Amino acid sequence: MSAPSGFSINFSGQCIIVTGGNRGIGYAFTRALAASGANVAVIYRNHPTALKDVGEVSKEFPGVKIKAYQCDVSDTEVVTRVVNQINEDFAIPEKKTTPITGLIANAGVSVVKPALELTHEDFKKIYDVNVFGVFNIARAVAKLWQDNKTKGSIVINSSMSSQIINKAKDASPLTQVFYNSSKAAVSNLTKGLAAEWAKDGIRVNALSPGYVKTAQTAGMDKGMRDYQAGQLPLGRFAEPDEMTGQALLLLSDHASYMTGGEYFIDGGQLIY
Ligand code: NDP
Repeated sequence: MSAPSGFSINFSGQCIIVTGGNRGIGYAFTRALAASGANVAVIYRNHPTALKDVGEVSKEFPGVKIKAYQCDVSDTEVVTRVVNQINEDFAIPEKKTTPITGLIANAGVSVVKPALELTHEDFKKIYDVNVFGVFNIARAVAKLWQDNKTKGSIVINSSMSSQIINKAKDASPLTQVFYNSSKAAVSNLTKGLAAEWAKDGIRVNALSPGYVKTAQTAGMDKGMRDYQAGQLPLGRFAEPDEMTGQALLLLSDHASYMTGGEYFIDGGQLIY
């Protein structure tokens, strides 16, 4: 039996990639990782300026490097190039292996429309990012780890929508069938990748938030937001920071026996 260790998480000297780490829940991941000593490679698509603290040395988190990369996670060529660039940019000269130890595949998009109005373009827009985009970056990072014969941990930001369809006050469903089904797909993808890569020491888990206060939920009208919050056992939407503890745990060695799981942070929504 190994010696017991107290519960603290310290990612000093490690590089962790966060897709969509420039705003919303991803930005909370970026800051929580930096606060735990990690160097963070942030991937964004359009909005670099939302990141307040990017540089060789972070002003807010001394000793930590945060660097932002523009990259569409659904573009395989760009993802491969950016992951290789991150590998070089964060390299530690005295270490012969990759500095990247973790990935949070968080970037995601949503389209809210009744099913009869949905188009193939809407389908591609959602599945390209929420499913293929997650797979694409996970595969690029896993390949690097396999080439370096090193272990790593991947956290996929899915959603409690992988399990349920939310309903509005009049009991009609919220119209997000492509979004919900893409999250069910990515939760299952988590299990498949975990199964394939377990022998390589690569763990893959899904984190599934309920309602979180970000741009995604700010788009709901206030009456709907208040109604949804009122339905939750904890009676409110989450702050982005409330998603970070479980993500950091899954990335850390404290979770060394956890893979292929889906962990809900939903204010009790799935109780009923
Ligand atoms: P936001 O809408 O606030 O942010 C979305 C993020 O994804 C942005 O950083 C955006 O980058 C990035 N992104 C979108 N498309 C791409 C792409 N093709 N390539 C790279 N990056 C991209 O989202 P949230 O913070 O609300 O959500 C984050 C994740 O959590 C998503 O997967 C979402 O589905 C999931 N989730 C959110 C919930 C919520 O209530 N908010 C509930 C359950 C799950 P840019 O800013 O540059 O466009």
